[in-house]
Amino acid sequence: MSLLELAGVRAAYNGITVLHGVDLSVAAGQVVALLGPNGAGKTTVLKVASGVHPPSGGRLLLGGRDATGIRPGDLARAGVCLVPEGRGVFPNLSVRDNLLMMTFTGRTREEIEESAYARFPVLGRRRTQHAGTLSGGEQQMLALARGLATDPAVLLLDELSMGLAPLVVAELYERVAGIARQGVAVLVVEQFATAVLKIADHAAVLVRGRVQWQGHPDSSLHAELSSYYLGSA
Ligand code: ATP
Repeated sequence: MSLLELAGVRAAYNGITVLHGVDLSVAAGQVVALLGPNGAGKTTVLKVASGVHPPSGGRLLLGGRDATGIRPGDLARAGVCLVPEGRGVFPNLSVRDNLLMMTFTGRTREEIEESAYARFPVLGRRRTQHAGTLSGGEQQMLALARGLATDPAVLLLDELSMGLAPLVVAELYERVAGIARQGVAVLVVEQFATAVLKIADHAAVLVRGRVQWQGHPDSSLHAELSSYYLGSA
């Protein structure tokens, strides 16, 4: 059963519609890649899914229940976690303090630190360093670790690969695959497809606010992608 579902979702900014009826679903344990060119509406899909931007039409379902219009804080408590583009770590705080801010979730400091360092050992080695001194990949790991401290059922990732070297991105996506294997429903937004498609179970291509293609990532997807990126999109 899908944990997260968008059914006919429409969204607008200042009366201008940017999503025109998006259907998308993510099951527990699944990685879904949402791809598409600049400005297609990918981030808006994540904003709708996390409650940050209420849809102007259609429905958001969480575990089969209508969650349309629920506020971001309540959706977060219901298990939806957004790791936004740009990572959102606090550069002037230590790695440890970035993690310990997540005690609002009710988990103890020990639990939060232990699980973060078990998953990302490099964060343990750097726990007293300011987050701003970490490499881009390590900062992204910290952002993921902070998100995972909420024990999410649904993880929404926006442009994880932004500004990172291909090897670092490949390693991060291996971790994301591991997170999904533990039963989390993962929706990943990326403009450039290669790395995420190695781990995605399902992909959707969004062009000008419409899903133009969705299915199992295979060679036909690559043909679709090149036509949207190079063609009329
Ligand atoms: P990118 O890769 O550039 O982030 P995207 O596919 O994530 O692109 P969105 O950020 O969802 O696309 O934007 C979709 C459309 O909505 C774009 O035309 C964008 O200009 C517009 N838009 C996004 N945010 C706002 C906002 N806060 N106010 C007005 N228009 C917005």
